[in-house]
Amino acid sequence: MPPEPLALTVLKSQVRSGRMAAAYLFYGDAGSRKEELAQAFARALLCARREISWDCPCVICEKVVKGNHPDVLWLKREEDSKGIKIERIRKLLDWASFKPYEGAWKIAILEEAERLTEEAAQALLKTLEEPPQQTVFVLLTDDKSQVLETIQSRVFAIRLNGPVEDEPAGSGPATPPETTPWEQYLEKGAGLKREALLAFLNGLLIFFHQRLRTVGESRLPSYLQAVDAVYEARSAAEANTNGKLTLTWLAIQLNRIFSSSEAVLV
Ligand SMILES: [Zn+2]
Repeated sequence: MPPEPLALTVLKSQVRSGRMAAAYLFYGDAGSRKEELAQAFARALLCARREISWDCPCVICEKVVKGNHPDVLWLKREEDSKGIKIERIRKLLDWASFKPYEGAWKIAILEEAERLTEEAAQALLKTLEEPPQQTVFVLLTDDKSQVLETIQSRVFAIRLNGPVEDEPAGSGPATPPETTPWEQYLEKGAGLKREALLAFLNGLLIFFHQRLRTVGESRLPSYLQAVDAVYEARSAAEANTNGKLTLTWLAIQLNRIFSSSEAVLV
């Protein structure tokens, strides 16, 4: 059986502990099943089992699946509009400001977060700065880079395809990289040709994947970000970008992510 997707591992652990972020951004292309995951997440927060499962037959889950649970509001994409207008967001925020009707949580799911108009995004941001209790926002997008950075800075972002979803093949680095500063570790890759550099980065991805499965829940977000950064670096290397620059960029990212010295030492 393939290992469970990492996004699921993270969400499951948060649901179990009841320590969810106030807002999420699930991103990944059309095949990434982000809508499905958003629905499963909503069900997990409302269902008595408090588990992310794909096939719970209970009445609560059925209501969510059928779209008639009063504590789930799902703003679907609108084909012909030029963007998500402030009126729709105001309605959503209004809805979110009330206590849950039936469950312990309210879940607001917003498709195509990259299409928020500036005005709508500002309204949403204000709420995300002081999120109503018992409400979880789940924003979905195909393209994270199109989502306003101010929004990105307020959400717990989870990539739903690429290596976060699929464990890369191969083996990790022979020597775990966490014992040396990132610049120093990544220097090893600086002189490598494209194929060797890709293998080097892949090894690092595998390393973070393995760590993600064993680290405590408080460190999951950092490791998830690290996987993401290595993935970005690998995409750049695939596109034949200057390897040295890519690795310098990656070192900066990893240093930022693991700025507390013990973060990587597990
Ligand atoms: Zn259920």
